[in-house]
Amino acid sequence: MKVTELEHPSHPNHILMLKSSDTPYKCDGCKELGFGPCFECEDCNFHLHEECALASKSSYHPLFRRCELIFHEETYGGRYCDACGKDVLGFVYQCTHDNAHDLHPCCLKLQPKIINDGFVLHLSDKVPSKCLKCNSREISRGITGWSYVSSCGEFCYHVACVKDLVLENWRNGYFNGDNNNGSAQTSNLALMRIASPSNEVARRKGRLGSKDIKFWRIAKMVLKLIISAIFGDPTGGIAIIVESLVSQY
Ligand SMILES: [Zn+2]
Ligand SMILES: [Zn+2]
Ligand SMILES: [Zn+2]
Ligand SMILES: [Zn+2]
Ligand SMILES: [Zn+2]
Repeated sequence: MKVTELEHPSHPNHILMLKSSDTPYKCDGCKELGFGPCFECEDCNFHLHEECALASKSSYHPLFRRCELIFHEETYGGRYCDACGKDVLGFVYQCTHDNAHDLHPCCLKLQPKIINDGFVLHLSDKVPSKCLKCNSREISRGITGWSYVSSCGEFCYHVACVKDLVLENWRNGYFNGDNNNGSAQTSNLALMRIASPSNEVARRKGRLGSKDIKFWRIAKMVLKLIISAIFGDPTGGIAIIVESLVSQY
């Protein structure tokens, strides 16, 4: 049976209810952004991802085959998530090895494979080609992070870069209905940076050939799939924004 309400030690005085949030929220467990279903205390504006609220004591991920990942509500500072490269600021799964791996609860649930209409993306900790957003193999600080890569190897986005794109737009207020004038423009800038048939191609050729157009059409589809893999399938207003996020440039 699906859990629709629960008591959680991180919010001891009130019952949390499963809600489908129409706006993105910041999870009070892992401190990362979330879309869609979450456990909420409306009175206190307190939210937990389903993954954070219903975390298991220990878990595994296929990319860390030899690691038992133990759930912690907090950890010592200076840790970052091996998947998305972002700091660990709250709930985390950590393995027991020296030099431990860390994963946000939402990053732990990243599917090893996304299949859509026969098009397959693989989650990988190696990067066969440059990420289409940052145009690099590493995300930062010498960290490769995880990426989703197409079978052909041509389409590759860092989990980190896709998270950043969505976060940027969230911070700019684009997701909060405040999407006129200024923020829409900033958002368009963010879009240009990601989906744009990389200025480089355009510059080289003067204009986009039909091959490039096809390439970027697939890239956008890939991007949308990855957004869903990270944040869950967007619903309602969020779905429309995600659609415009990846489609207009
Ligand atoms: Zn969380
Ligand atoms: Zn409360
Ligand atoms: Zn380990
Ligand atoms: Zn992460
Ligand atoms: Zn990247």
